[in-house]
Amino acid sequence: MLVEKKPRALIIGGSLGGLFAANSLLQSGWDVDVFERSPSALDSRGGGIVLQPQVVAAINNAGLGSASPLGVLSQERVYLDRHGEVLQSAFMPQTQTSWNTLYRRLVRGIPSERYHRGQRLTSFSQDGERITARFEAGAIAEGDLLVGADGPDSTVRSILLPETSLSYSGYVVWRGLVPERSVSPETAAALTDKFVFQHDPESLMLQYLVPGEDGSTNPGERRFNWLWYLKAAKGETLDAVLTDRQGVHRRHSVPPGMLAPAQERVFRDYAEANVNPAFRELVEKTHEIFVQAIVDLAVPQMVFGRAILLGDAAFVPRPHTAGSTSKAAENALSLGAALRASPTDIDMALRLWESDQLNVGRQMIEWGVRMGDRLMRAAA
Ligand SMILES: Cc1cc2nc3c(=O)[nH]c(=O)nc-3n(C[C@H](O)[C@H](O)[C@H](O)COP(=O)(O)OP(=O)(O)OC[C@H]3O[C@@H](n4cnc5c(N)ncnc54)[C@H](O)[C@@H]3O)c2cc1C
Repeated sequence: MLVEKKPRALIIGGSLGGLFAANSLLQSGWDVDVFERSPSALDSRGGGIVLQPQVVAAINNAGLGSASPLGVLSQERVYLDRHGEVLQSAFMPQTQTSWNTLYRRLVRGIPSERYHRGQRLTSFSQDGERITARFEAGAIAEGDLLVGADGPDSTVRSILLPETSLSYSGYVVWRGLVPERSVSPETAAALTDKFVFQHDPESLMLQYLVPGEDGSTNPGERRFNWLWYLKAAKGETLDAVLTDRQGVHRRHSVPPGMLAPAQERVFRDYAEANVNPAFRELVEKTHEIFVQAIVDLAVPQMVFGRAILLGDAAFVPRPHTAGSTSKAAENALSLGAALRASPTDIDMALRLWESDQLNVGRQMIEWGVRMGDRLMRAAA
């Protein structure tokens, strides 16, 4: 009996975009191998993410839906002034999850021997319909498709589109997570089960509840996830924000525990003077604040023969769209559907996928830039 060989995808990047792609391609009858540069498990990292329908659809498509909830429901949107008085509130139900909750759920769909940690892609080449990827540690892999799901600093993109780069928006986001049980009853009453904002000129702070580090959505076991968007002028100010406690200048973000003490002090003092009492308590009770520069990225092309770009490697929308993860999910779901619909003509499937997904990315970028610049009063 003749057994047809399955096509094989090499997926570069084992975060959410790579996992969505791997799950979707597995469902479409492909063999997959995921290559992640980080040598350790990523699952204790990350903060909050708004749970969008595309993410739920991708999880269900992979057969990973389950009875346990993926997120925490908030019922109301509330705007506070800096004294904690309610300026406005509206019934607007929405579910929030966390990066590590999604990561843990999605990684379950991938056979462990197909998820390769500590494998940093350094180069690749194409020969007709075959693609060969090379890794820092010396490994070489061959496949029919290479998926660049390696995020905003994508190596795959830097090879395919060396001229395309990230542009800084003019503002950064300071972030933190606080265990639900650690806040005072007053703060719990002001924030629990609500999506709460404080919007001042050139500043937007918000918070919502996300699952606990172990994924629990039980009251008392969740975490308050806060974000504070503040301007930071390019040059000296931004450089100071992105220089970590060891004096290393980071490209776009300083992870938890690595803020330079002087920057952290300035930030905490600013919070003390400028935010409402509930938000002030969240900042006070955050042990490890982290910060990320808000950047924009849009590629002109997503398919290059048998190498493609997906997720944040292709488009980085402003976080106000709450769309980065859902876009990665949509990229991956539609890729699987296109390849399933056209199993004998992979190149045609990729062309159709690209024309559709370029539009999705462009629209999200334009909308996010308009919204971000309005919210932050046209960040310089
Ligand atoms: C640890 C972590 C925590 C995050 N937390 C949040 C969060 O709390 N809230 C939020 O909204 N978004 C978060 N994000 C970003 C979020 O995952 C993305 O915006 C979105 O889901 C699209 O994901 P992506 O997989 O395309 O890109 P990314 O999530 O950036 O993933 C890219 C992956 O590629 C890997 N990689 C990069 N270069 C190479 C290479 N050369 N070879 C192999 N692997 C490579 C990276 O290590 C990374 O795991 C986080 C990302 C990471 C990696």
